[in-house]
Amino acid sequence: MADDFCRPRRRIALGRSLCQTVAMSEAAQHDTGLRVTFLGTGDPFASGGRLQSAIMLDAGAHGRFLVDCGATTLVALQRAGIDPDTIDGVLLSHFHGDHAGGLPLFVLEMIANREGDAARPPRARPLTIAGPAGTEQWLREAMTLFRWPEALATARSARLLRFIDLVAGVTVSAGALRIEPFAAVHTPEALMLRLTLAGRTLACSGDTAWTEAILPLCTDADLFICQTCTFALPQRTMLSHAQLMAQRDRLSCRRLVLVHIGAEMQRHLSAAAAPVAEDGMTIEL
Ligand SMILES: [Zn+2]
Repeated sequence: MADDFCRPRRRIALGRSLCQTVAMSEAAQHDTGLRVTFLGTGDPFASGGRLQSAIMLDAGAHGRFLVDCGATTLVALQRAGIDPDTIDGVLLSHFHGDHAGGLPLFVLEMIANREGDAARPPRARPLTIAGPAGTEQWLREAMTLFRWPEALATARSARLLRFIDLVAGVTVSAGALRIEPFAAVHTPEALMLRLTLAGRTLACSGDTAWTEAILPLCTDADLFICQTCTFALPQRTMLSHAQLMAQRDRLSCRRLVLVHIGAEMQRHLSAAAAPVAEDGMTIEL
């Protein structure tokens, strides 16, 4: 992965081996790189046996963040051996259950069964929850509906939760993470997220139909993670593989990876014109 740290400017000036040394020492000082783990790459229906939407960004000392938190996210974290207490923040693209349904469970797990368990002491690290305007109310309603309202109240009184409203066109920061939201074409609140962390830029489509806003969303991004729920079947509020690839030449991202794989897309994986993520797959940037 040293080669990924090696920006062209230094490669030209210093040559490869020295360049790698410089790049690694820079990495040690400022930059731990960014590991992207695809925790869930499926649709709401478990097509292909895939888990629901969740991506983890791990920048070492710069923080660990989830992008979306589908209902199966705690399953995915457990399978990957990742302690939920090590997550600094959860970003929501929108409130559909396959993107946000795991958040009530995540918050419940933060405070449940901690007293008297030496192996599972109370969580100390606050959790930032950043999502469309109304995220805090949505979470309160969801946890009330699921009959765990007291878990949210306990987490709040322990000062474990911090909420950030995301608004299209307004860039905000959560620790070292810079978040630039764009309006999606899906549910009214749905956002696409352009994220900068540890010197890397990621674009995440969330769920959306084609919109010209995808172009600035992914401009020069190190990685664009885009949903293609279907291969050719048109959907009013989602992108098909055919629709995305019709625009492929206009996307200036350095890498494109496809997620949110539905049943028909699953049947055409061998014809995909870009890499398709699998549950548990990681990419180092
Ligand atoms: Zn959705």
